[in-house]
Amino acid sequence: MAPGVRLIIFGRQGAGKGTQCQRLATHYGVPHVSTGDMLRAAVKAGTEFGLKARDYMDAGKLLPDDIMVGLVAERLAQPDAVTGWLLDGFPRTVGQAEALNEVTSDAPAEKAVNLEVPESVVFERITKRRVCSGTCQRIYRVGDPSAESGVCEHCGGAVVQRGDDTEESVRKRLADYQAQTVPVVEWFAQQGRLVEVDGDQPADDVFAALVHAIDNR
Ligand SMILES: [Zn+2]
Repeated sequence: MAPGVRLIIFGRQGAGKGTQCQRLATHYGVPHVSTGDMLRAAVKAGTEFGLKARDYMDAGKLLPDDIMVGLVAERLAQPDAVTGWLLDGFPRTVGQAEALNEVTSDAPAEKAVNLEVPESVVFERITKRRVCSGTCQRIYRVGDPSAESGVCEHCGGAVVQRGDDTEESVRKRLADYQAQTVPVVEWFAQQGRLVEVDGDQPADDVFAALVHAIDNR
């Protein structure tokens, strides 16, 4: 077991960030703090915050910085985050990054990790993904027999493309990432707190590269 660490992770959708976050959180014994998961949970639970968050999301807007910063600051103050944390999905703007620095001034993020996978690669990965809408929910790729036949070989469910995985939808999200998140990544680079890891390799190699980069922080 490695000692705790305070990290922020960046990566385009489809870069494999979710898988690597789970492994890193386990490896370093710190909570994986995903703002996306927190928002979805609050909306589902119907809390006052969740209702407010849903209004913004329904309107296709990002939540205001002060709300997001408050949410994250509260989460990082929980007892399980004393040894460290792995922050995913936040900060999304330079303003949020500056505010995070202030609210964590006693123990700020040591590093921001950028899981770099070229746009063209994630575009291929996502737009060629097909999912079983039946009981097994397996993920296939164009070219797999189940994806070609449209019938899941495991459970017989329909194999479909998710609405979020269409070319138009993926293009929009990649453009949003470029416009909003890349400047935040560059902000951390200017501060000498960024490490880049090549995410376009097998998952085990990505994980090894991440641990190596983080341990040499
Ligand atoms: Zn299935």
